[in-house]
Amino acid sequence: MTAICLVGIGKIAVDQHVPAINGSDDWTLAATVSRAGTVDGVQSFTDFDKMLAERTDISVISLCLPPVPRYDYAAKAIAAGRHVMLEKPPGATLAEVDALEMMAKAAGVTLYTTWHSRMANGVAPAKAWLADKLVTSTHINWKEDVRRWHPDQDWVFAPGGMGVFDPGINALSIVTGIMPMPFHLLSADLHFPENCDTPIAAQLHWTENVSGDFDWRQTGPQSWDITVETTSGTLALRDGGNRLIIDDREITAGDNREYPALYDRMAELVKTGASEVDVAPMIHVADALTLGKRITVDPFHF
Ligand code: NAP
Repeated sequence: MTAICLVGIGKIAVDQHVPAINGSDDWTLAATVSRAGTVDGVQSFTDFDKMLAERTDISVISLCLPPVPRYDYAAKAIAAGRHVMLEKPPGATLAEVDALEMMAKAAGVTLYTTWHSRMANGVAPAKAWLADKLVTSTHINWKEDVRRWHPDQDWVFAPGGMGVFDPGINALSIVTGIMPMPFHLLSADLHFPENCDTPIAAQLHWTENVSGDFDWRQTGPQSWDITVETTSGTLALRDGGNRLIIDDREITAGDNREYPALYDRMAELVKTGASEVDVAPMIHVADALTLGKRITVDPFHF
């Protein structure tokens, strides 16, 4: 088993990373670094440099911090010769990720930009089904309640937090993963609460008749749906990619193994000395923030 350190013990580390590591035969959770969070029975550090200096047996660092503080940790880990796994989105900017990729290559270590939604049950079979189809339109409907999924996480509305694209990038990771053709942004309406630096809702239109409706103000039932019309039938991914339905016939449904699959993939990358760096989903978010029309809406408070 390979010793791994988790950095940033917050919501996603506790909900997904710790159970995925503990359930794997590849990994042993050897240390954590967090200012406040700890994991029972695991050595905890508050100082990342101290952990790197003292735990030279730990070869892999998984960074679960929000995107803005993450780069400095990743750069230090690579400089210390450690393999690095990045939560999504892989950085606050595209250039950061580019820099990390070059550093990892020069240091001969693995860098993995994870996209957990791409590991959802329906995504690989959706990609396989679409490979030889002619797509006529695609729609993303990604609407959830920010208060429920990001309670009191002010960073999502601060510069670099991406706002509604923090979950919306999951949809973009799926669409960029399954589409048989490229597409690029034509226009975007971005709804910024008057007291926030990132959008709370957005409507996007791309070439190839691809569109997306993202909203973080949805109470009640939550929507994480992608519908692809082709000349040979309709493909629908529901529940964030975990259910695949083709022409109203359920093809895939099952346990969510997104995070265990990410750790399986990281084990494979480390073993083979490879990296996997993909910024395609983030390019679409950057394009939306570059091209989008800003619309001011009511202030938001958690
Ligand atoms: P979070 O709970 O707000 O933050 C994770 C941890 O990072 C915090 O507990 C904090 O630990 C540390 N941290 C926060 N700001 C920091 C700073 N400026 N400097 C150093 N450490 C800092 O966030 P999260 O929901 O786990 O999200 C983290 C990442 O996972 C994001 O990129 C997000 O997109 C991704 N993600 C989240 C979800 C979700 O449902 N929440 C799902 C999938 C992926 P300490 O205060 O103890 O240091």
